Amino acid sequence: MFLPILVGILIVLAVADALGFLFWYACSWPRSQVLGPALVRGPAGSRKVALTFDDGPLPPYSEQILDILRSQNAKATFFVCGKDAARHPEILRRICREGHTIGNHTWSHPYLYFMNREKCAEEIDRTQRVIQQATGGTPRFFRPPYGARWFGLYPVLRERGLHLVQWSASGDDWELGADAIVSSVRAGLRPGAIILLHDGRQKSGGYLQRLLSRIFPSTGSQNRQPDADASETVKALPAIIEAAREMGYEFVSVEDFFPLRPRDDEGAPKGWDPSVNNSA
Ligand SMILES: [Zn+2]
Repeated sequence: MFLPILVGILIVLAVADALGFLFWYACSWPRSQVLGPALVRGPAGSRKVALTFDDGPLPPYSEQILDILRSQNAKATFFVCGKDAARHPEILRRICREGHTIGNHTWSHPYLYFMNREKCAEEIDRTQRVIQQATGGTPRFFRPPYGARWFGLYPVLRERGLHLVQWSASGDDWELGADAIVSSVRAGLRPGAIILLHDGRQKSGGYLQRLLSRIFPSTGSQNRQPDADASETVKALPAIIEAAREMGYEFVSVEDFFPLRPRDDEGAPKGWDPSVNNSA
């Protein structure tokens, strides 16, 4: 009598677990293409890799990273948060001027889970406007905070001609020291690798904190950490560049990997003509 009930309960639990896993995979796994297309890696046929820096701009780290990239003649992509971009338009202009690509990383770096389409659009549009005002160019690439996606996100990106970029290798530089960051990046170096690093820090918090911040937005988990520090990434960068160059890799921006056609409405943004600097 009890056995069939027990088996029934176990089956229900197993199905719920499997659905939960599939759901998590679709929304959270960086390489997942379930909810929509994600650019995870560039063409595997050439020895090119793309460094990407998230969560900035943040002085002095963003400038230090730009100094290293300039001295090494390496190109990169910066996924900036609008609220910090608004404070440091001069850094955005420098990123552009020195031939790097700027991408949109939302305004306040929230988890996009459970976020409705309007709020998602607001996070993206405010950031697009700030970057456009500072540089005259409008980003074509977007990276969701924490790589997390939700259902309303893709229609918003499509309407704005934005392409979602994830990563294939990570320096885990939000928790590692310089040497370990270099090792972590080295392990992920492949032709076409997109490497995740940070020139800023945005607050993450644990699951409970994230949940609370969804329910009570004023808990402040979307604000920058007061002790934001990207110095380990800065320390690691020369060794990352050296290691990759020894392996024959060249550093390009994601735009080089994924050449863009001009948008119908406004054409290619100033200084971002995809026909230039496109050797992918
Ligand atoms: Zn981020």
